[in-house]
Amino acid sequence: MRRHANLIGGSWASGEPVPNVNPSDISDVIGEFDRASRAQAEEAVAAARAAQPAWAETPVQTRADILQRASIEILARADELAELLAREEGKTLREARGEVTRAGHIFNFFAGECVRIRGDALPSVRDKVDVMVTRDPVGVVSLITPWNFPIAIPAWKTAPALAFGNSVILKPAELTCASAWHLADILVRAGVPAGVFNLVNGRGSELGDVLIGDGVDAISFTGSTGVGRNIARQAIDRNAKIQMEMGGKNALVVLDDADLDVAIQCALDGAFFATGQRCTASSRLIVTDAIHDRFVAGLVAAMERQVVGDARAPDTTIGPVVDAKQLATDTDYIDIASKEGATLRAGGRTVTRDREGFYLEPTLFTDTNSAMRINQEEVFGPVASVIRVRDYGEALAVANDVPFGLTAGICTTSLKHASDFRRKAQAGMVMVNLPTAGVDYHVPFGGRKASSYGPREQGFAAIEFYTSMKTAYVNA
Ligand code: NAD
Repeated sequence: MRRHANLIGGSWASGEPVPNVNPSDISDVIGEFDRASRAQAEEAVAAARAAQPAWAETPVQTRADILQRASIEILARADELAELLAREEGKTLREARGEVTRAGHIFNFFAGECVRIRGDALPSVRDKVDVMVTRDPVGVVSLITPWNFPIAIPAWKTAPALAFGNSVILKPAELTCASAWHLADILVRAGVPAGVFNLVNGRGSELGDVLIGDGVDAISFTGSTGVGRNIARQAIDRNAKIQMEMGGKNALVVLDDADLDVAIQCALDGAFFATGQRCTASSRLIVTDAIHDRFVAGLVAAMERQVVGDARAPDTTIGPVVDAKQLATDTDYIDIASKEGATLRAGGRTVTRDREGFYLEPTLFTDTNSAMRINQEEVFGPVASVIRVRDYGEALAVANDVPFGLTAGICTTSLKHASDFRRKAQAGMVMVNLPTAGVDYHVPFGGRKASSYGPREQGFAAIEFYTSMKTAYVNA
């Protein structure tokens, strides 16, 4: 059975073996991962601390070459890694291939960023003084990641961390340790020096104190809002730098003048593809009166054409939910919505297949209102609801009526409404005639309100978190 060990100070380190199963078929054990102890997490932090100064001094071209080699290997092995990702997390092969390719492009992008760490030289307001603004690495960075993008999220944190001279301890979610192990293995082969990149598997509740503790200078977290807030409190107490990417409850507004086919495709993709397990999923569909019935009928018909099944089967369009716990959460919310008075318009049932997996039909509720729990709390599954509104003004108010603010989308042919929505939606990312999920890798990613805290991730914005600014005054 394949073992997925921890990587500490350049050596593979075993721990308590834990099986890792395929959510499409729970009799399929992918392998075992080695759960690290607290002592091993401490070793990883110490190794990262010891290795960081030399890494920061390593010529930027050497750092760029290493990231470039990682990119080339990820892209060359995209089919094989996608197969593993689909087997481990339950994304369809098409979606998994997209995620792996994105991870490869991210390493390529940050290979370029290594040589673009810009500073500023300015005149001082004082005589004979020069001012220089430069960026130093932050130091030792903990990367704590969720299961739903098991290679892309570790990639979009690791690549900028390494590019800008930091050392790293990556703790992936326990459900997706195999994908993280392959990333570590690729980085070792690409030439990352011992201790610069460390991998520890294990429960956040057990290792968290070490990964957020005195040994680290910064924490980049992606996961649920509750966990993120607790980490943020602890980290702020000791002045660690933080970047928190958390939950979402994203709205897709559909106005009367929308292209109906575009709106249905945006809703289908945003709400149900990747089994709805995306922080950017469109779980609230806010639809104006005149188009409501046609939109719902069209979306339900499209949902009925979807094939729920094994993530790696060629005809599957919606894979399984990631595990039994998430499936229970999804079905609990289906009960809650029904009890709140929402109408179950499509789906709602678990699906039985030849092989035992965590399958749930894409599910749609109508006749809901914004105050219902189904419209206020993140479900994180293939469950969406429709909120009927009178006009654009009400749609905008409802779109903003949640504690979260990650993405928001609008389907309309009105430039006036699209522009107004772009300005007034309380979200970090706004989509016009596009699904709320699906973003580029070279531009800032992040939200507002309870969805994000701290500097943006990805693309040219990543430098803000992974470097620390210094202003020098020189009288020479
Ligand atoms: P989670 O919060 O349960 O876990 C995320 C990570 O935190 C895991 O590695 C986990 O082991 C770790 N963790 C848990 N308790 C910890 C503690 N006390 N100290 C340190 N680490 C701890 O989230 P999940 O179920 O893995 O992922 C789903 C969530 O992630 C959803 O809420 C989703 O919206 C969010 N998410 C957000 C984004 C974004 O960019 N905003 C992207 C993807 C997923």
